[in-house]
Amino acid sequence: MFTASAAPLAPADSAVLPNAPVPGLGGSRRVAAALARVRGGARLTFDEGLTLFREATVLEAGAAADAVRRVKHLVDRVTYQVDRNINYTNVCIYRCAFCAFYRPAGDAEGYVLPFEEIGRKVEETIALGGTGILLQGGIHAELPFSFYEEMLSFLREKYPQVHRHAFSAPEIHFLAKKEKTTIADVLARLQKAGLQSVPGGGAEILEDGVRKRIWALTKAPTLKWAEVHREAHRLGMPTTATMMFGVGETHEQRLQHFDVVRRVQDASLAEGVESFTAFIPWTFQEENTAMDGTVETAGGTDYLRTLAIARLYLDNVPHMQGSWLTQGAKIGSVAMSFGADDLGSIMIEENVVAAAGSHNKMGEEGMLALIRDAGFTPVKRGSVYDRCREACCRDLPAL
Ligand code: SF4
Repeated sequence: MFTASAAPLAPADSAVLPNAPVPGLGGSRRVAAALARVRGGARLTFDEGLTLFREATVLEAGAAADAVRRVKHLVDRVTYQVDRNINYTNVCIYRCAFCAFYRPAGDAEGYVLPFEEIGRKVEETIALGGTGILLQGGIHAELPFSFYEEMLSFLREKYPQVHRHAFSAPEIHFLAKKEKTTIADVLARLQKAGLQSVPGGGAEILEDGVRKRIWALTKAPTLKWAEVHREAHRLGMPTTATMMFGVGETHEQRLQHFDVVRRVQDASLAEGVESFTAFIPWTFQEENTAMDGTVETAGGTDYLRTLAIARLYLDNVPHMQGSWLTQGAKIGSVAMSFGADDLGSIMIEENVVAAAGSHNKMGEEGMLALIRDAGFTPVKRGSVYDRCREACCRDLPAL
């Protein structure tokens, strides 16, 4: 528990404080003032977030995020999921500069998975104790809308127990353009066919200057990404928010991304509809991408600082996911003390990040050991952070 040692400072106080290091802390007085406000229950301002990025030591940010995380999640538990990423196609009309996964139409390595193959992958997932699938693909210009509806209906009918978390904002946005209809209409039709929740993919950095530079603006400008999530929430579907960082963006641009997520969440919560279940920051992997060697990618310290500030800034998002997949098990382990209350999925299959050079792997036993060794209690969850109903978890408080 974070116990306030001094009365929270007003924002005006923090603005006039000299920016000398705080004895014994190593950070600055502005950092101390911002963190005191968080301890007092206040929401971080944009400028305070910037101060944390620029002046907080990584341990200061981490300790504050850990305190917030322990208040939000009353016991020392860390959740994880067993699911599988199924990429139904790698054919894509876009050429995002950070992507090593896509293949242009007509490429010998391009594929569209037959439903039987998707079914086989789901059966393997069930056999391994999996409870959900994450279904995403490239933006394939030739697949008709009925392909998406039939894929969802096939999965719902054949594997009703497996949660269908599917289609990132760029896929939804493209379908709306192709069908000459609204994003809300596309989501409603997909929901009718079996869609249950929407992943936060395709967010990268939600600032259009960055999106343009990394060739991600056309596939979904920031406003379209936000619209997909707002409309999904309104239709009663929870979603997640992601951030891929370390693509040469500034700290201001990372905060702008946090701000988009916080504002979307505020609006959905105010309406009393569904909302973001989690924020999932992860770092750009450059191998085999057009951006390889062109930017300074984010290392472990930058990752942990960003995760911690995200936990502090996104006061309205319940869960924060640590990324062992891009950062490896060691940083994944530390992430649990930097604000993360969830380590995501063991990912029986993952192709997108693997294509860009990240080959970290983990089985369920490895996940359990990683969480326990860090001093936390592992709890298996479902795709929308619903708790596992197995005997092991029945007595724990609600997530
Ligand atoms: S990130 Fe998605 S939209 Fe961009 S090229 Fe890769 S598959 Fe296509």
